[in-house]
Amino acid sequence: MTEAGRAWPEAPLIFERSQPGRRAGRVPDYGLPPPELPSDLRRKRPPRLPEVSEPELVRHITALADRTFGVDTGFYPLGSCTMKHNPRVNERVARLPGFRDLHPLQEDEGAQGALELMWQLQEILSEIAGLPAVTLQPAAGSQGELTGLMLMRAYFADRDEARDTIITPDTAHGTNPASVTMAGYELEKVETDARGNLDLGNLRAKVNERTAGLMLTNPSTLGLFDEGIEEVAAIFHDAGALLYYDGANLNAVVGISRPGDMGFDIVHYNLHKTFSQPHGGGGPGGGPVAVRASIEPFLPAPRVVRDGDTYRLDFDVPKSIGRVRGFAGPFGVFVRSYAFMRAYGPALREMSEAAVLNANYVLAGLRDVYELPYDRHCMHEFVLSARSLKREHGVTALDVAKRLMDYGIHPPTVYFPLVVPEALMIEPTETEPKERLDAFVEAMRRIAEEAATSPEVLHEAPHGRPVRRLDEVRAAKQPVVRHDFGEQEIATAH
Ligand SMILES: *Cc1c(COP(=O)(O)O)cnc(C)c1O
Repeated sequence: MTEAGRAWPEAPLIFERSQPGRRAGRVPDYGLPPPELPSDLRRKRPPRLPEVSEPELVRHITALADRTFGVDTGFYPLGSCTMKHNPRVNERVARLPGFRDLHPLQEDEGAQGALELMWQLQEILSEIAGLPAVTLQPAAGSQGELTGLMLMRAYFADRDEARDTIITPDTAHGTNPASVTMAGYELEKVETDARGNLDLGNLRAKVNERTAGLMLTNPSTLGLFDEGIEEVAAIFHDAGALLYYDGANLNAVVGISRPGDMGFDIVHYNLHKTFSQPHGGGGPGGGPVAVRASIEPFLPAPRVVRDGDTYRLDFDVPKSIGRVRGFAGPFGVFVRSYAFMRAYGPALREMSEAAVLNANYVLAGLRDVYELPYDRHCMHEFVLSARSLKREHGVTALDVAKRLMDYGIHPPTVYFPLVVPEALMIEPTETEPKERLDAFVEAMRRIAEEAATSPEVLHEAPHGRPVRRLDEVRAAKQPVVRHDFGEQEIATAH
C-alpha cells in the first residue's frame, strides 16, 4: 500500500521522520567567518526543524499531495463554485517575463502592455455586463460586493439621500448579508415563491424610501433564472433604489443575457469562477465591478484609462471611494482570465451554453431518484433534496456527499441554499465530457439504491479515505497545526 493510502494515524508527521544529522542538501564548508549579527537579533535556541534526507522529504510531501482532491484529479461538482478546468496555456501566458517580472510600481510608460491588457479586460467585462465602466481592483467576489455597496453609499451620499436598508433573497450566498452588514446597512430578507422566483408581493411590501437597493444572484443559487426580473428592477428603480448583481453565477449567462439589460446598476464578476483560475483554499481571485454611468464617478482610484494609443493609471477621481486593493489589483488573475476569454473569442457564449446543457443533462438523469423542489429547467446548476431518503431510510444529504468520495467524486455543495432541506447543489461546469457526467449520474443512482438496501454503508462513508467523519466544528475551532515536541530532542540546525 502506498503512503497516501495509509490510514491517517499511521502516516508519520515530518517531525516523526526526523533523525539527528540528516539533511536535504548541504553546502561545502569554505571556512568563511560567521556573519556578524547583533546579539539581540540572534536566535536564543536553534530552530526546531525536522531533519530528513531529500528523498524522504520528497516522499513525504508527495504522499500529502496525493491525498489532495482537486479538479485535476476528478469530477468536482461543487455548486456555486464553478470548478471548471483551468487551461494550462493561461499559466504559460501569466509567466511571460514581461508580465511576471514587471514591478507593481513601474511607471506607466514602462508598463504599457500590462495596462493595455487591463484596459482590454475592462472593455470585455463591460460588454459582458452591459454596463459602461469597470474597476478591476477587488480581489474576490466578496470584496466586489463590499466595493459595490460602498459605491451605493457614495452615490446616495452625493445625492443627499438617507437610505439604510439592503434587501437580499432568502437564497442569498452567505457573503451577501455579510457584505451588507460590513458596509453599514440594515439587512432585509425577501422570500422565494413556489417557482423559485423572488416573491413580488413580499418584495413590494418591503421596498420604500429607506431602501438603498437589492442584492441578487441571477440565476439564483437555486440555479433558476428569475422570471420576474424586469418587474423586480422596476420596483426598485421606481423607489429610487439601485440593483446589485452578484455575478458569481455568471457562468450561465455570458453572451446570452446581460445584467445591465436586466436593469442592474452594479455588478461584480468572479474572475476565478467564470473565467477560469485555480481557486479554492482562499485564492487567488478577482472580483471586478461594473457600474452604470451615474455611478462611475465613485469607482475606486486609480482607474486604468486610455488616451489615444497610450494607457495610464488615472488618480484624478475626486469622488472616488478610494483604493480597495494594493497597486492595480490581482494582476496574474487578469492575465489568466484575459487569456481564457481570448481563447474563446466571439464564441464565449458557447461556454455558458455548454454549462447549462451539462447541468440539465445531469438533472435529467437524477430527477426520478432525488427530489427536485423547484421543477424547472435549470441554468448552470441545480438543487436536489435528499429529504425523501432521510424520511424513508434515515440517509442524509451529508451521507450522500460522503459516499460520493468512495466513488472518486468530490461532494457537491450541501445544506445550501437554506430554503431547500437536505440540499445537494450540483454544478458540473462546461468542461466535463459526457462520460464523466454519466459516471456521476450512475454513482448518485447507486447511492440512492444503497440508501434503501444498506444505509449503514452510507452512514459510515467515506470508506476509502484517510479519515472518515470529522468533528467539523471542533476541527475549525481547535485546529491542531503544531507538533507537540514534548521532551523530544531536536538536534541543532546549522
Ligand atoms: C463564490 C460566491 C461569492 C463569493 O465569492 P468569493 O470570491 O469567494 O469571495 C458570492 N456569491 C456567490 C453566489 C458565490 O457563489
